[in-house]
Amino acid sequence: MRLDGKTILITAAGQGIGRGSAIACSREGATVIATDIDAALLASLSDSFPGIATRVLDVRDGAAVTALAGELPPLDGLFNCAGFVHHGTVLDCDEADWDVGFDLNVKSMYRTIRAFLPGMLGRAKVAGAASILNMSSMASSLKGFPNRFVYGATKAAVIGLTKAIAADFVKGGIRCNALCPGTVDTPSLRQRIAAADDPVQAEKDFIARQPMGRLARVDDITPQVVFLLSDESRFVTGQSVSVDGGVTI
Ligand code: NAD
Repeated sequence: MRLDGKTILITAAGQGIGRGSAIACSREGATVIATDIDAALLASLSDSFPGIATRVLDVRDGAAVTALAGELPPLDGLFNCAGFVHHGTVLDCDEADWDVGFDLNVKSMYRTIRAFLPGMLGRAKVAGAASILNMSSMASSLKGFPNRFVYGATKAAVIGLTKAIAADFVKGGIRCNALCPGTVDTPSLRQRIAAADDPVQAEKDFIARQPMGRLARVDDITPQVVFLLSDESRFVTGQSVSVDGGVTI
């Protein structure tokens, strides 16, 4: 299998792309540690997939991240999936919204990478490589979207962070890439649609953004996650990889 012998930690694995990625990586032979802030979501994951280990982890809690890294074996793969979509323009974004957006979407990655990278560097010496994957978005430095002010800024920062890590640790066997999905049908997307003034029109508008004419399913995204965490992508680092149904053609 494609991830045999690899230990992979995933943040925000309780639902959506993180959960689908935990299942896909486990099916490819990885030892998966699925983390999320929501214990009930993790319980439903481990009930259905007993082979997946779960741990409650708030990626905004630096002490908890450091403690978990001290406890777990060195990782071969780290998928920083946690992120939140704040809706609105710069005029809707007060300093608290800005700070929460950057803390959850960007600083969380700084925390996990600081905590897990030393172990991954050691692991790369033994295994030859280790891979970090950071969740960005098509709404980033790749393209601007209405009402994605702080979200787009954070996801652009993720691409910069990714390239910096890739440049610093390429000689140490660490690869670091960013994943840039289009609009994916996940529980939080459904919440965004339901919160719109006209949910029917909102769903049509989300679909219309993709030239392929539909929303992505989680399983449109997870093959790219498996690829970027596996040795099949061994010559790929510092990239922002789009899986967006043609949005950024
Ligand atoms: P989602 O938004 O439906 O679920 C998010 C998960 O994050 C939940 O399980 C929640 O409990 C967890 N979470 C929230 N705060 C947390 C914290 N502080 N610590 C740990 N976990 C926390 O999932 P999704 O829509 O698949 O989004 C996952 C990632 O993919 C996000 O970074 C998002 O920005 C990105 N993304 C999503 C889409 C999309 O259209 N859904 C598109 C591009 C990028």
